[in-house]
Amino acid sequence: AAEEGFDAEDVEGAIEEAGHGPLPVLAVVGRPNVGKSTLVNRFIGRREAVVEDKPGVTRDRVTYEAEWAGRRFKVVDTGGWEQDVLGIDASVAAQAEYAIEAADAVVFVVDSTVGATDTDTAVVRLLRKAGKPVVLAANKVDGPSGEADATALWSLGLGEPHPVSALHGRGTGDMLDAVLEALPEAPAQRFGTAVGGPRRVALIGRPNVGKSSLLNKVADEERVVVNELAGTTRDPVDEMIELGGRTWKFVDTAGIRKRVHLQQGADYYASLRTAAAVEKAEVAVVLIDAADSISIQDQRIVTMAVEAGRALVLAYNKWDTLDEERRYYLEREIETELAQVAWAPRVNISARTGRHMEKLVPAIETALAGWETRVPTGRLNAFLGELVASHPHPVRGGKQPRILFGTQAGTKPPRFVLFASGFIEHGYRRYVERRLREEFGFEGTPIHISVRVRE
Ligand code: GDP
Ligand code: GDP
Repeated sequence: AAEEGFDAEDVEGAIEEAGHGPLPVLAVVGRPNVGKSTLVNRFIGRREAVVEDKPGVTRDRVTYEAEWAGRRFKVVDTGGWEQDVLGIDASVAAQAEYAIEAADAVVFVVDSTVGATDTDTAVVRLLRKAGKPVVLAANKVDGPSGEADATALWSLGLGEPHPVSALHGRGTGDMLDAVLEALPEAPAQRFGTAVGGPRRVALIGRPNVGKSSLLNKVADEERVVVNELAGTTRDPVDEMIELGGRTWKFVDTAGIRKRVHLQQGADYYASLRTAAAVEKAEVAVVLIDAADSISIQDQRIVTMAVEAGRALVLAYNKWDTLDEERRYYLEREIETELAQVAWAPRVNISARTGRHMEKLVPAIETALAGWETRVPTGRLNAFLGELVASHPHPVRGGKQPRILFGTQAGTKPPRFVLFASGFIEHGYRRYVERRLREEFGFEGTPIHISVRVRE
């Protein structure tokens, strides 16, 4: 590497930075208006989270990447909806439940100017039950005079309240230090490395695509799905299902089985649930209603899985209802609307008739294999050498940037770092990705490519 103009430390640093697998997840929970979104903005250093301050406006973005003291993690913001028809208690509990379930640690935000309310106490019960590490944020301590209010929150029994002002940044650094202490380096407990342990599958898709029907079909039993309120009864959240001679862990199946009909905030709630399931899973099976047009909602769900860096399978359901004309248009829609995930294995199924159910497991296995593929450095560089020789980067400003060498820094999903002599254009990066896929497979997995440019 040295002769190419990169020093060994740069190379190692770049590999380490790019090499991370799934990041640990921090959930920020609490009642409406305690300052969750404001705090999340502090964490991510952007104003993005609190874009809409109007009640009833739904956000579909719920997870963000954050970095503090050189460590990266994900933040799940549950601030995206207001009170709803179930009443505050139930709604706060329901959203907190999903977020806590998917998290490695939790920041519980309380408005110290109000003090602990009954709803706060209800969330404390959930936190106790979940047993995840909790950092208590006593928010809206904008100055020294508010410290006493924060101290009063010892009464919640969650340990030391951290006095912060999400709005002004007071105390948030100290609290983030505590968060990092609570947060494991890697989401290890959720991605057990035990060889042969059950793989984790998230079955996701917009309402009515057939998730519950499929789950019942694969679980090989008809279950009665009762119309229950969130937070009242607690189903087991994950379910072990025998399929194709293996045991799989279908995550957050309670979210599929539970029928929660909300008016305000329903979309946000669905997004939160989907994001939580994706975070917990290794592979996402996105169910799409083949009888219906592919919608923005379908695309968003696919994007969520891809951005989270999970393996992906696309399952087109309700195949039993398709006539020739619809089949024709479906193919056109897939080409235009889902072109960005043309690499995902695809199955055409019917949860009703059981059509092609046996193809689901091989598709999931293919995607997981792609997700875990590691290309040896020698092979990668032989490939890059050929690629650069046969298809060089276009000349820009009299110079020709060149990829000098590269390495795969990590898996789950595959992450590459390329070292280059100059800025590599987006189009050329896409070309490299396409060629990498042709050469090494990577079926069913997003791949990340970062480029380091020689000084
Ligand atoms: P969320 O519903 O829990 O996400 O709460 P928001 O982040 O939307 O904040 C609710 C309101 O409290 C907004 O008007 C914020 O500006 C305000 N707020 C948030 N944090 C603080 C704080 O530390 N101090 C003060 N004074 N106001 C805050
Ligand atoms: P979920 O909201 O995604 O869990 O969807 P459901 O499993 O509740 O299914 C929604 C509706 O689609 C129900 O009326 C199902 O009977 C129907 N459905 C699900 N899968 C199929 C299928 O493969 N073929 C047909 N014709 N209908 C289906």
